[in-house]
Amino acid sequence: MPSLHVQTALQTHPQLSAKLHKQVWLKMENMQPAGSFKLRGIGLLCQRAVASGATQLVCPSGGNAGFAAAYAGAALGVKTTIVVPETTSAAVIARIRDIGAEVIVHGNVWERANQHALQLCQQANTIYIPPFDHADIWDGNATLIDEAVAQCAEQGSSFDAVICSVGGGGLMSGVLQGLHRNGLQDVPLIAVETEGAASLHVAIQADELVSLPAITSIATTLGASKVAAEAFNWTRRHTVHSIVVSDTQAVAACLSFADDMRTLVEPACGAALAVAYQNLPVLQPFKRPLIVVCGGIGVNLVALASWKEQFSL
Ligand SMILES: *Cc1c(COP(=O)(O)O)cnc(C)c1O
Repeated sequence: MPSLHVQTALQTHPQLSAKLHKQVWLKMENMQPAGSFKLRGIGLLCQRAVASGATQLVCPSGGNAGFAAAYAGAALGVKTTIVVPETTSAAVIARIRDIGAEVIVHGNVWERANQHALQLCQQANTIYIPPFDHADIWDGNATLIDEAVAQCAEQGSSFDAVICSVGGGGLMSGVLQGLHRNGLQDVPLIAVETEGAASLHVAIQADELVSLPAITSIATTLGASKVAAEAFNWTRRHTVHSIVVSDTQAVAACLSFADDMRTLVEPACGAALAVAYQNLPVLQPFKRPLIVVCGGIGVNLVALASWKEQFSL
């Protein structure tokens, strides 16, 4: 069964590598056909569901998860329904409909849309596609590490830390699974969130899974009020440095990345890039850090310009 995702480029970041005197690796997941790494995990989950008889996919997300599910459903030739709350913009809805999925608008908050999605899944052969909390999603996301390991080896190199952003922790769980299945259990993870969306950070501080009272970051893609238990449990068996950056730092990184690499990414991705652009102390021990450029479709020139103005950058 060929995968729905593509192999993305692994390249060094010339300016940051020179500035930091390190080899800064970038795994360019923004180049996935659905605009983010999400296609790896969600694509695999959808593929396995269809292989075991599903004829309809239902996903409660107007973000990159919903877009990846819509893309996967179209590629697999099954009906796909994306349930979003009333707060979802017309542009987002149009974008999902344009690639062939049905969009149902339900409820004023995500929880209501999610309840409706779960209800729809009582129909025969209908499978629920969660945004981050599923073993198949972690398994699929882990392929980005399989690839990076092989690509680094081809270039006679390696990486000694991985930097990724954290929303609900599906990306992080996949990265860690990938490190372990490639014998890299000693390579630390730098897990990055923005202020106002730092659900992993508060869980680590509280030493238990806790929910954020509200999401206040502009990096709405990272806005899971509680991380998956899997992600939190990983912090007990792998070295994870939990880092929180400001929205301003995340947006500044998006702007610099646009100039340096001629590439637009969401603030959710800018958060991970900010660790290198700000040369945060956590990076100091590492010579060859790998940044997961997670991407995201929620960005364009207009949005970037308005964040630039909002944060006086
Ligand atoms: C989903 C997503 C994240 C966060 O991933 P989680 O699995 O929710 O932790 C980060 N960046 C982008 C662009 C995403 O789409």
